Amino acid sequence: MTKRALITGVTGQDGAYLAQLLLGEGYEVHGVVRRSSHSGVDDHRLRWLGVADSVRLHDGDMGDLSSLVRIVQETKPDEIYNLAAQSFVASSWRQPILTANITAVGVANMLEAMRIAAPQARFYQASSSEMYGLIQQPMQNEKTPFYPRSPYAVAKLYGHWITVNYRESFGMHASSGILFNHESPLRGEEFVTRKVTTGVARIKLGLARELRLGNIDAKRDWGHARDYVRAMWLMLQQEKPDDYVVATGVTTTVRDMCRIAFDHVGLDMETHLVIDPAFYRPAEVEVLLGDSTKARAKLGWSPKIALGELIREMVEADLARLKRGEGR
Ligand code: GDP
Repeated sequence: MTKRALITGVTGQDGAYLAQLLLGEGYEVHGVVRRSSHSGVDDHRLRWLGVADSVRLHDGDMGDLSSLVRIVQETKPDEIYNLAAQSFVASSWRQPILTANITAVGVANMLEAMRIAAPQARFYQASSSEMYGLIQQPMQNEKTPFYPRSPYAVAKLYGHWITVNYRESFGMHASSGILFNHESPLRGEEFVTRKVTTGVARIKLGLARELRLGNIDAKRDWGHARDYVRAMWLMLQQEKPDDYVVATGVTTTVRDMCRIAFDHVGLDMETHLVIDPAFYRPAEVEVLLGDSTKARAKLGWSPKIALGELIREMVEADLARLKRGEGR
């Protein structure tokens, strides 16, 4: 029997990599998309990975319960991956209510749709290391107390706990993956790694002179999205649902990550980097460092791609894109 998966946020970075992985595992893959009258569906990430024609898209919205119920009824999924969110921390201060409606209440909508229309399905919730915020332990694991520092993180905390609660209340197979930052050439350009790699590529090609960043002392535990979607899938293959931290166990400053990108193209970082307070945040998460011992032991998961390789892949992809005339 072919397994069926339903992915929300399928047109995002993780959705695209997960769709590719599941298709490779023989799944029938369905995705929820918001269609807009002027631009249609933005499936450029699915195209980039060569899977756009294999994923079946359904019109829906995380804020619209009836659309989610209908999609679950029609697709009868074995597994539901809830990756849809307003996921950019900085804009969550500018759109806190929208962030709550989609990133928090949207999770309850998806869980309700599953409870109504496919209660036997397995559910994955995309939780986030941002929930640790003002860190309470030097390395964060599943038992570390949370201390969210942005409207985004507060919303993700609701999503995490409503997932745990539905598991405990209704016996649903619902798992929460607490994923640390994960990047790729498909990362949105507002996130710092991609902002750096596209910025460095522009400078290298003479399309820009400087790169403006905010707090470059912040430290993150960065992994590759391709590695991290494998952990999502593994969680739903377990007999019992549970929560797992997914991280590399290495933390790096924005400054050092940036230096990798400049070094790769043979440019001097100090000449081109400008610190711009406009990119400082009202409250900052200074450092994150994940302890993924549990995922390594129970899922047999480990990351394969280290930060240097990741950043170089992203710079190369941005150089190639710009040389083709895209995104100039
Ligand atoms: P986040 O961890 O989900 O917020 O991922 P981001 O990639 O957006 O930000 C990671 C860190 O980089 C945060 O601590 C930011 O404050 C820091 N940072 C410094 N300069 C910038 C910038 O220009 N853009 C972004 N997005 N982050 C920046």
